[in-house]
Amino acid sequence: MSRPFPWKCRTCGEKKVRLSVVPDYSVELDHDGRSYSLSIPNLEVLECEACKTRVLPDNAHSRITLALREKAGLLTPVEIRKQRETLRLTQKQLANCLRVAESTVCRWETDAQIQQRSMDLLLRAFFDLPSLRQYLGMSTKSLDVTNTTPNRRVCLAWPGISVIPSQPRTAASRRGELCTGVVAANMSPASRDDMTVLPIFAQ
Ligand SMILES: [Zn+2]
Repeated sequence: MSRPFPWKCRTCGEKKVRLSVVPDYSVELDHDGRSYSLSIPNLEVLECEACKTRVLPDNAHSRITLALREKAGLLTPVEIRKQRETLRLTQKQLANCLRVAESTVCRWETDAQIQQRSMDLLLRAFFDLPSLRQYLGMSTKSLDVTNTTPNRRVCLAWPGISVIPSQPRTAASRRGELCTGVVAANMSPASRDDMTVLPIFAQ
C-alpha cells in the first residue's frame, strides 16, 4: 500500500488504478451450501478508472468476511482466539480436541477460512460446556501428559482440567499407576493446588 497511486491495471494495462470508496457495496456469497446477500457501507476498493475493474484490498476482504460471519451467525476470528485463550489452550490443543488440523484453527483465527456451521456449533459448545471439553479432551490420544510428575500438585498437561483422585494417595498412585479420579473442568489454580494430579486418563 506504500506505492503512490495511480497503479498499473492488470486488466487493461492503463496506469489508472486508484483507491475508491463504494458507498454501498453489494455482493452475493455462497458459504457452506447457503447463499448470503451482503451489503457493506463505504467499502474501500482498488478501481481502474479506464476499464472499471475492481480489486479488493485485504481490509476490504476482511470487512466482507466479517459481514458474512455476522449474517450467518458465526463466531469471528477474534472471538475464537479470545475464547481459546480464556481456556489457556494452544491452537494445537484446541485442534486436537476438535479433531481438526492445527493449521485449520490458525486459518479460522486469521480470517483465512470461515468455519462451517456445524463446526461453529461445536466450537460454541466446546467453549460453553466444561462437560464437552472433558469428553473431547479425555478421548484424545494426542493429549500431552508427559510433563506431569506424579505426586506433584500441578497439572501442566491439560489447562483447565484437573484430575481429582477418589481415593487417598497410595504408593502406587504416587507412581502414577492408578487413576481412579474424576475430572473437574475449570478448576481455579488455587483449588488445583490442593489435589493430587495423576498423569493418566483411564476412565
Ligand atoms: Zn483497467
